[in-house]
Formats: sequence, structure tokens, C-alpha cells
Amino acid sequence: KTHYQILVIGGGTAGIMTASSLLRKNSSLEIGIVEPSESHWYQPAWTLVGAGTYNYEKTKRPMASVIPKRATWIRDRVVSINPEDNSVITEANGSLTYGYLVVAPGLKLDPTLVEGLTEAMDTEVVCSNYTNPNHTWEVLKKFKGGTALFIQPPKPYKCGGAPQKIMYLADDHFRKSGVRDKAKIIFATSSDIIFSVKEIAETLMKVVDRKKINVKFSHELKKVDSKKKIAWFEVSLNSVDHNPVILPKLEEKGLVGIRYDMLHVVPPNTTPDFIKNSLLVDETKWVDVDPYSLQHTRYPNIFSLGDVSNLPTSKTGAAIRKQAPVVVNNILSLIAVGKLSSKKYNGYSSCPFVTGYGKMVLAEFDYSKKFTPDPKLKLMLIGDSSKEHWRLWILKKYILPYLYWNKMLKGAEV
Ligand code: FAD
Repeated sequence: KTHYQILVIGGGTAGIMTASSLLRKNSSLEIGIVEPSESHWYQPAWTLVGAGTYNYEKTKRPMASVIPKRATWIRDRVVSINPEDNSVITEANGSLTYGYLVVAPGLKLDPTLVEGLTEAMDTEVVCSNYTNPNHTWEVLKKFKGGTALFIQPPKPYKCGGAPQKIMYLADDHFRKSGVRDKAKIIFATSSDIIFSVKEIAETLMKVVDRKKINVKFSHELKKVDSKKKIAWFEVSLNSVDHNPVILPKLEEKGLVGIRYDMLHVVPPNTTPDFIKNSLLVDETKWVDVDPYSLQHTRYPNIFSLGDVSNLPTSKTGAAIRKQAPVVVNNILSLIAVGKLSSKKYNGYSSCPFVTGYGKMVLAEFDYSKKFTPDPKLKLMLIGDSSKEHWRLWILKKYILPYLYWNKMLKGAEV
């Protein structure tokens, strides 16, 4: 079979939620999902894995178990998209054609974009929850004092909170293991604020003060020298040094160096090559969709959601939970009556900021960047989710993974 009424690229969070929900609403749809991987990952728990409080193996399930029963799993990789003739080219199965295309292959982590990062990744003291959270935990356990450096890259990158969450947990772990008073914790962020939502930023600044974390604003990682253990940053003139610590002065070719004893990085986030080289992207190389309907701006039978899209909000599974129903309603409406439905995406996304073992703040917001708590979550939690609370930790560690595997991936709107 080479033609599908609806073809989905990617069996990750976005692809599976969309395909399952489409079939839940209309079981006679012919859906193909192109996905090369044998496993589906629940990445939000990787923060907890990196801090030794969640089993990595439990974040993985066989792809076969999450592909909806009535969809066809095409175990293959898309290598190019030809929107002009409604086809995609795959590695093994050649050309596949579609009536509607859902583009959801996620994003690509590309360490080659920072000099020296490829060689530094996964060495003894350099780690990333984005690539290998088990290794992060090994690095945290081995750390015996000195400088623990955490970086946050420029946007866009997936999960706005992930670069910080692991730092808050590391601080807590270092206190428990008795090395905190021998350590300087430094957060070097390319941004000039800690978070874009005011209420959450206020809470997080209290957290960094309580934890005595040095925040270096407007620091963008440009180079890693893993032999000398120095991270090199481009620093803008108006950079603020919050809770400063004394460090050796290192400067070279306009860059400022920080020597580290452990380093947590976020490799630059970009789009997969077949997306970058396609006709679907905007000038920033992310898939160009309407921010409210998620329909492609030039090809009306193409939709995109999740990490690969250019939606101007934080790239999270929580955002996809609200994006998928919009894509689903629009495709069903186009099939039924030839026009888009009235359902719109408002930019909702959320970042669960774990601030220590047993503590969390839930940043929820939309395109306006205003704090917009989800009424359903609020009902479950009782209280103000912009403040740290153990109930939110329970949500993160137990309730959300349960809802993810048993409801969201099955196409239920929760
Ligand atoms: P993915 O889930 O990455 O799936 C993409 C799929 O496409 C993969 O299965 C891949 O194999 C497939 N694919 C790739 N290339 C091709 C190809 N050429 N052809 C066919 N298929 C292809 N989100 C939250 O909501 N809350 C959190 O607390 C949170 N924390 C996070 C912490 C970390 C450390 C990380 C890394 C992420 C976190 N996220 C969090 C973000 C969340 O996991 C992602 O936003 C979400 O998984 C994106 O879904 P997606 O479907 O777009 O991409």
C-alpha cells in the first residue's frame, strides 16, 4: 500500500496523540504512521532520571504498544517531503502519497553547532538530560565539590524548564550527600530573565536565592574545551551577575570562560535535515504553520505540531496535549465539510519546574505569556501552582506519566 488518507510523520508524543484521537473520533480513517524507532520515550521523566529518582527503563515502551490498533505502522524513515505532489520519500518503502499530512518528527539535537561540544558530550564530567539522563546521575553522584555549571541555550529548545530543573535537583542532592558547601553552582543562561512568565520568574528567583545559585544572565555557550574543562561564552554588555561568586578571570577572543568540575549542557536544538531542506520551513527552518489552526501556511492539506513546528510557544508534551485536538478537529472538518473547524490553539504550554526532591512549581501560560492555570489541573491540585508544592511533585512523578500512557496516547482529551 502506498497511499494513505492521512499520513503521519513520527510516532512520538505528537504523532501518536494525533493519530489515536483521529481514530477515536472516526475509526474508518486510513492512517499510516511512518516511524523508524522500535521504542517510544516519555521524555518529561528524564529530568527525574537525571536526579536518580526515576527508572530510565520505565520511560520507554515498545513503539508497537502505542501505535493505535487501526493505524498502519510503516517502520521506516522519511527522507524527503514533496508537498507539490502530496508525497513523501522514505528510506525503504520509496514514495508514499497522502490526502493529508501530519508532520511530527520532533527536533534534532545538534552538538556540532557549538565548537568542541561533540567531543565533550558524555565525557566523565559533561552530561545532558537531553541525550543521556542516566549519565547525568552518574556525574552528579561523582561530583565531590568545585564548580557545577549548568547552561541554558537561546530559544527555541524543548521544555523551557529542563535546563534549570536538573540544577535545582542537583543542589538538593549535593546538600544530601554533604558536598554542597564545597560547591559553587552556576547557571549561565543566554536569556536576560529567568523565565518569561512573571509569577513564575518571581518564584524561581526566590529559589535561586534560597539555594545560593549564581545566575549569569545573557551568557551564550560558544565553545567547550573538555581537556581544560572550560566553557566559553559570548556575554552581552548588559549581562547581570546575580549572587556573584569569585572565579578566575578567563577571557579569550571576546569570549568569557568558566572552568567547571561538572557541566550540564543542552545541545543546540534544530530541525531534522529532511525538514530543513524541505519546502515546509520558514526562514528560521522550523515548519511554518498558522499559530492558531496549525495548518501549514502554504499547503492547506498539511498540518504540523509538536517540537518541529514554528509555533511561538514552549516546546513541550503539555503543549501538544492542547495542539493535537486542534489538528484533529481541523482535519476531520476539512474531510467532512471542506473547511477548518472553529477550534483554535491559544499557545498553551506548561513547564513543571521541579525545584527539589518533593517540590515543584507548574508554569502554565499561553501566547500572551500570562500565567494561565489549566482549570482541570487546578481542580486536581487545589491551590496556586505558581508556588512550590509537594502535590505538584506527585503530579509530575506519578499522575502525569499515568495520564500520558493510559489516556493521552490513547487519544483521550484530558
Ligand atoms: P518526539 O516525542 O521527540 O517524537 C518524534 C518522533 O519522530 C520520534 O519517535 C522519532 O523517532 C520520529 N522521527 C524522527 N525522524 C523521523 C523521520 N525522518 N521519519 C519518521 N519519523 C521520524 N514536556 C513536558 O510537557 N513536560 C516536561 O516536563 C518535559 N520535560 C522534558 C525534559 C527533557 C529532558 C526533554 C528532553 C524533554 C522534555 N519535555 C517535556 C518535552 C517533550 O518531551 C517534547 O516536547 C515532546 O516529546 C515532543 O513531541 P514530538 O512528537 O514533537 O517529538
